[in-house]
Amino acid sequence: MTFNPEKYRIPDEPMKPFIDAAEIEHYLFHARPDKSVVQDIIAKSLDKNRLSLAETAMLLNADDPSLIEAIRDGARRLKEAVYGNRIVLFAPLYVGNKCMNNCRYCGFRTSNKAAIRKTLDHNELIREVEALEEKGQKRLILVFGEHAEYSPEYIADVVRTVYGVKKGKGEIRRVNINAAPLDMEGFRTVKKAGIGTYQIFQETYHPEAYTWYHPSGRKKDYTYRLTALDRAQEAGLDDVGIGSLFGLYDWRFEVMALIRHANHLEACYNVGPHTISFPRYQDASLVELSGKYKVSDDDFTRMIAILRLAVPYTGMILTARERPDIRREAIRYGVSQIDAGTKLEIGAYAEAVDMAQNLNREQFRINDDRPLNDVMDELIGSGYTPSFCTACYRLGRTGEHFMEFSVPGFIKRFCSPNAVDYAPERTAGKGWALIEKQLSEMDEQADVAGIRSRLERIKAGERDLYY
Ligand code: SAM
Ligand code: SF4
Repeated sequence: MTFNPEKYRIPDEPMKPFIDAAEIEHYLFHARPDKSVVQDIIAKSLDKNRLSLAETAMLLNADDPSLIEAIRDGARRLKEAVYGNRIVLFAPLYVGNKCMNNCRYCGFRTSNKAAIRKTLDHNELIREVEALEEKGQKRLILVFGEHAEYSPEYIADVVRTVYGVKKGKGEIRRVNINAAPLDMEGFRTVKKAGIGTYQIFQETYHPEAYTWYHPSGRKKDYTYRLTALDRAQEAGLDDVGIGSLFGLYDWRFEVMALIRHANHLEACYNVGPHTISFPRYQDASLVELSGKYKVSDDDFTRMIAILRLAVPYTGMILTARERPDIRREAIRYGVSQIDAGTKLEIGAYAEAVDMAQNLNREQFRINDDRPLNDVMDELIGSGYTPSFCTACYRLGRTGEHFMEFSVPGFIKRFCSPNAVDYAPERTAGKGWALIEKQLSEMDEQADVAGIRSRLERIKAGERDLYY
């Protein structure tokens, strides 16, 4: 009997659940890739086409070392051929870790009595943002636990405060949010405050596993979380980020589900997610997971290459949960955004934190604690352009009008050299040299003279010039 996945397909309807574990499992069960199939799929992706669930399953099941290498090579080629060398940099800012949920993997869960609970007050928030601006940060993601105190109005207030902080030449130009799912009114409220992307990770898309990891609290409701970004879209917030926490369930299943989620948003709202995140579980205060679904480094980087091929135009975020060597490799496969200079302890950007208490103040351990400048220095040294550019978003190029790589040539041309202004002389020198090199490589259509005149204005102290 031939396999007919359509039989399993739950139709895409706005605000309705769309994940069918049986459908995903059938794809994975029936995908038997050989060399020519894998090559054809890679070629399709290199032609800048999204992959179907069936094709993604083929890549996920390609276990032969030569096929895995072909996939990694395909992702590297896609990255080189299509996307510029721009890497967007941001920093997470933990605003408060009170939480009513009891997620079994998280240091902030309500049953962890050792966790030191803290919410930044108004002045502490300002000090944190000033400290981040002094380092040259322009884009933040604000992170909140799920708690009655962190209402949409409260989150919106925090966002407005953050935008209002100007320290020296510094300012925050884009505030993204990672917080609990909201109702439609709530999404409208935070949108009005001018947020960028609203990120919500499903953690695991597998319904049974989800139920086990989320025994109590509002997060228990799988469907409410799954449909959260539908509500965001209905509320007019079209810039959304999806994600799954790798290490909770089978990584292949999660990749399929992420692609299914992207398809669902496209089918219902004509716009896929702006970004995909794939955090890997890290040790956290008083958390002990069995390790059954732990994702090895090899599988993790292979998974990133597959995701890149499956969704050629979606931004991919990799955080400081990962070691520098993994981050380097992931960037070569097309990760487009990374955080740098990250501190997860609440209040730690502005103050020195007692290290002995660290794990009780942070959500989990990070593995890349290099300062922003060191990360920039390395990126520039490897030929990447660290970018703090927010022009697209500020010119209204979001959602349907904007995908991370929608016009690759365009993306290559617009990046902010402002960051080099904050860097120590050595890094700044390298940064200007890189900008010079890129100017010399631009094609005739580029307005090189215009860019040069803007660069002179930036050197003279002006900020925030964009096309
Ligand atoms: N409380 C909100 C929520 O759960 O959606 C948003 C903030 S939560 C602090 C952000 C994300 O951190 C979660 O969605 C989860 O994927 C991730 N996370 C939680 N525990 C983690 C751990 N031990 N290691 C790595 N990531 C973790
Ligand atoms: Fe709370 Fe979010 Fe941590 Fe769950 S993942 S315990 S909701 S902060």
